[in-house]
Amino acid sequence: MRRDGLAVLIPEDELRAGVATLAREIDRDYATTGMVIVCVLKGAAIFTADLLRVLQAEVHRLEFVRASSYGGGTQSSGDVRLTGTLDPSHLGGQHVLIVDDIADTGYTCVAVKNYISGLEPASLRYCTLLDKPDRRAVEVQYDYVGFTIPNHFVVGYGMDFDERYRGLPAIYYFPEE
Ligand code: 5GP
Ligand code: MG
Repeated sequence: MRRDGLAVLIPEDELRAGVATLAREIDRDYATTGMVIVCVLKGAAIFTADLLRVLQAEVHRLEFVRASSYGGGTQSSGDVRLTGTLDPSHLGGQHVLIVDDIADTGYTCVAVKNYISGLEPASLRYCTLLDKPDRRAVEVQYDYVGFTIPNHFVVGYGMDFDERYRGLPAIYYFPEE
């Protein structure tokens, strides 16, 4: 896959170590209960797949929601659209862990949490691989954060720019930005 002028922000080995550290934290919290994972498509697909394979705690179910707010640009519009409905009987009374790629303004977290709260889970936590706290526009809590990063637009490891670069194995940014 073409890397154009991209620069590496988090190399593969650091990513792998970060995902393993997150998995240990999650394992500790869900050791006795297990969890239902809700992956936020599309960006978190690859992170979720890797996380699942290193978790030791029981994953009772894997579900997906799709959140979109960017519409091809690099700025969140703040108007998060959720598509792909979840069966309430799959989440009600369950310990639900939402898995996302990157925390930016926080609007996605608020929207997904509000939606899933309405399905009455026993507990609800939010995991994000990356966090760009400089850009937060709403107050939200992320329970598990893999890496806190500076305010770059990043691609790779599931994340895109205009649907490109999702297959790159590390996290990259555009240095000329
Ligand atoms: P938020 O709603 O917190 O502003 O943004 C969260 C979503 O926006 C992420 O799940 C991701 O899909 C997208 N996003 C935010 N920052 C970036 C970025 O630097 N690169 C890419 N590819 N997507 C981003
Ligand atoms: Mg996302």
